[in-house]
Amino acid sequence: MPSCQLCGEDSENLKKTKIEGAVMKVCSSCSEMGDVIEQKKKKKTKKKSSKTYRPKDTEKLTSNYGEKLKQAREDRKLSIKELADSLNEKASLIKKVEREDLKPEKSLANKLSKELDVTLYVNPEVYDTSIESTDDGKATLGDVAEVKE
Ligand SMILES: [Zn+2]
Repeated sequence: MPSCQLCGEDSENLKKTKIEGAVMKVCSSCSEMGDVIEQKKKKKTKKKSSKTYRPKDTEKLTSNYGEKLKQAREDRKLSIKELADSLNEKASLIKKVEREDLKPEKSLANKLSKELDVTLYVNPEVYDTSIESTDDGKATLGDVAEVKE
């Protein structure tokens, strides 16, 4: 029967305990005087909180967003004012964007994209994968080339 190194009491349940700098095998009551060094108990494995993966915002304005915008608008036979009105934006703003004097904010770009079905912000990585998987992508290849500039 092992006995407590501190009080000498026989005990089956000696605990390795650090008391005043010394590690001793002591009974449970003596162990309260120090820090019990747990050995048998498995450490509680904390579930790794899976980081919510936030992809970097890699979307960029296409290099020719103004031209694209203008073309799309003219395809729809919309004047700048008509376009601006339907978007609830100022015509001068649209004009600036078309001249590429102003980079449209994402929200504006999104509106324009929806309205005119153009892509102003592109994600280069997404485009890269789409190149490989597109067989008849000749129409988009031009766009991609422009994007990659
Ligand atoms: Zn003891």
